[in-house]
Amino acid sequence: NSPHRAVVYSSTGNPSQVLSARALPPLPPPSPTHLNLRVLLSPINPADINVIEGVYPSKPSIRPDLGNVFIAGNEGLAEVVDVGDSVNSVVPGDWVVMSKPQAGTWASQLSVGEGDVIKVPQGLSEVQAATMSVNPPTALCMLRDFASLSPGDYIVQNGANSAVGQAVIQISAALSLKTINLVRDRPDISELKSKLSSLGATHVLTYDELAEKSTKTRVKEWTSGRSIKLGLNCVGGRDTTLMTGLLGHDAHLVSYGAMSKSPLSLPTSYFIFKNLTSHGFWMSRWYDSHSKSDREQLLAELADMMIAGKLHAPEHEIVTLRGSDEQVSEQVREAIGKGSAGRHGKKV
Ligand code: NDP
Repeated sequence: NSPHRAVVYSSTGNPSQVLSARALPPLPPPSPTHLNLRVLLSPINPADINVIEGVYPSKPSIRPDLGNVFIAGNEGLAEVVDVGDSVNSVVPGDWVVMSKPQAGTWASQLSVGEGDVIKVPQGLSEVQAATMSVNPPTALCMLRDFASLSPGDYIVQNGANSAVGQAVIQISAALSLKTINLVRDRPDISELKSKLSSLGATHVLTYDELAEKSTKTRVKEWTSGRSIKLGLNCVGGRDTTLMTGLLGHDAHLVSYGAMSKSPLSLPTSYFIFKNLTSHGFWMSRWYDSHSKSDREQLLAELADMMIAGKLHAPEHEIVTLRGSDEQVSEQVREAIGKGSAGRHGKKV
């Protein structure tokens, strides 16, 4: 019978210093348009850390009812516990994910508006559902919205073992697209390469291999000279400059992450002579600029791929938080440390 809790912060900063767990009072019965939710699983995504650090453009709303704190967490899976009188799209027992950003999912209970959630189609695992609203749609939209690709075309991506990268590999395979995947070297690199190949990766290279002179020739052999029209950038920095060199004429480079924290620098000649277009993609902007039915359709499409066994949950580790507020606060800090240390290879 542990109390309901939330992971909160009152000022932005280093998560290990500003986050703490605190008990929440029981939720009152929902107002006519609202739902009470029990949160089942909440991932730690890199952007969550940036939000807590205060360096991300979206912020959770402040909670005067809890003494002016923010509740952390953007993505998550919850079960509907109680619904207001005029709610008709979900019933208690249904699973939902958030369509409102920064809903405060690092909590065991939530009160949200009916329009702020999307009902999860049946047939998904808890982990698939809990991680379906940020990374898989980012992968699908980037593959669809920028370059016109046909079966057999190649795309290239870095950060290929990230959760987004794993979704890119699988969705590409489902769409009969081929992928060249770049990852950081590590002692067990052959294990990582086989893991990504088993998801459907066509080729996997480390950034060191990318920098080798022979790589361009190898890539030309793989693609039989077919031009690569799309590059997906999760990392930035010099490795992305090199990756962009693999793109052909009229290609599109789509940047969605900056994991190396290094700026992206591209030779001007790529724009002049190869007609490169460089874009940024932000899933939050997509959600904001599309209707609820577009959002539902996007998630339904991904759920179909998951149910068909074409899109698996990312590699993950589930951490269960238990004990006193102090113990839970410590467990949260440890869980965040695992994810942000790099090369953990698992969504926490
Ligand atoms: P994960 O936590 O699953 O993976 C993080 C990835 O970043 C791993 O591949 C890791 O590689 C790599 N990485 C970490 N540090 C570095 C570094 N210094 N240099 C190179 N690679 C590094 O992340 P997600 O898939 O959840 O997110 C990946 C990125 O995409 C994040 O930047 C996130 O904010 C962004 N994102 C953006 C979205 C958008 O709408 N624009 C939507 C979703 C995600 P390794 O195993 O070697 O440590």
